[in-house]
Amino acid sequence: MTPKIASFLDTQPATPCLVLDLDRVAENYAALRRALPAAKIYYAVKANPAAPILDLLAARGSCFDAASLPEIEMCLAAGAPASAISFGNTVKKPSAIAAAHKLGVPLYAFDSIEELEKIAAHAPGAKVYCRIAVNNEGAEWPLSKKFGTTLDRAKVLMLAAPALGLVPHGLSFHVGSQQTGTAAYETAIAEVAMLFTDLKAAGVELKMLNLGGGFPIRYLSDVPEADAFGTAIMDAMVEHFGNDLPEILIEPGRSMVGNAGVVASEVVLVCRRMEADARRWVYLDIGRYGGLAETEGEAIRYRITAGNGQTGPVVLAGPSCDGVDVIYEKTPYHLPLELKSGDRVLIHDTGAYVTTYASQNFNGFAPLQEYYV
Ligand SMILES: *Cc1c(COP(=O)(O)O)cnc(C)c1O
Repeated sequence: MTPKIASFLDTQPATPCLVLDLDRVAENYAALRRALPAAKIYYAVKANPAAPILDLLAARGSCFDAASLPEIEMCLAAGAPASAISFGNTVKKPSAIAAAHKLGVPLYAFDSIEELEKIAAHAPGAKVYCRIAVNNEGAEWPLSKKFGTTLDRAKVLMLAAPALGLVPHGLSFHVGSQQTGTAAYETAIAEVAMLFTDLKAAGVELKMLNLGGGFPIRYLSDVPEADAFGTAIMDAMVEHFGNDLPEILIEPGRSMVGNAGVVASEVVLVCRRMEADARRWVYLDIGRYGGLAETEGEAIRYRITAGNGQTGPVVLAGPSCDGVDVIYEKTPYHLPLELKSGDRVLIHDTGAYVTTYASQNFNGFAPLQEYYV
């Protein structure tokens, strides 16, 4: 936890709340720039669209990956030019495409002929890039099945783009979020490089490769540093593209904001459920519906602290009356034996994918408060 967050928490804000240190975001942005100086950074807005974050990144010259018209409007409000925005969702409403086009957004993702035709109809002349489905092995929050197409299919689609009045600009992939290994990028780069070559031979010269997001942060276990990803990626780019490097884009979300935020919550109840189970059940005032959606399947395992003292095993659950609202049951968590109702529990590294996942008053619980310090 950063000193700024610690001193803000000393003021005892009502819980649940997220406190996020903007200096940390600035450091993360600088670290990514250093790790991959050849790449343009398109911050994945969905990770945390708070205005102070977008303002900070826009002021530093970051570009933005937006998934919807409201996200595009937030980036513009932060001072980003439309030319710095990519409409990266491969599933877009025609009205959203038309509005983005009118606002001057130049770049559109797709992964099906149907979407390509929509872009052609509502954003004539736009630059398009095709998302390739790649192996998400090593990712703790995979995105694999829902998006992307095969190399063969992408070739057909890119060749079809000019006749539709579009500019076939590049390719993209996403190796899965919280990707803990560099190999996923290396394999994906090798695959898409072949399609660049194929398309060039067929008369379509692509200009851009979008490597997506996925860069991990440290939750409970160490992960490779940004520099390790930067080196592995550039080595793979040079190996497969030689001197003919395309423009490189990255779309970090989690790695830009995740470690900048801490959620403060209050213990609502500590009790035993079954005599035979040594574990106490700890109910917090935040759970699956309060923003901790990535604890689904216990995929993302946050670091959780609650003061000092001897600890024992716990099951962690949220405050709602839904049986699914259990945060961690299989992952072994230990909290102080003296923990009681009213105590504060901190959930660390919650700057990404928390605030906007909070439900709107499920069981009457308001979404968590957000403070950017
Ligand atoms: C969610 C998303 C990202 C960000 O992914 P992280 O794993 O948070 O870095 C980037 N690009 C696209 C297209 C996304 O959907």
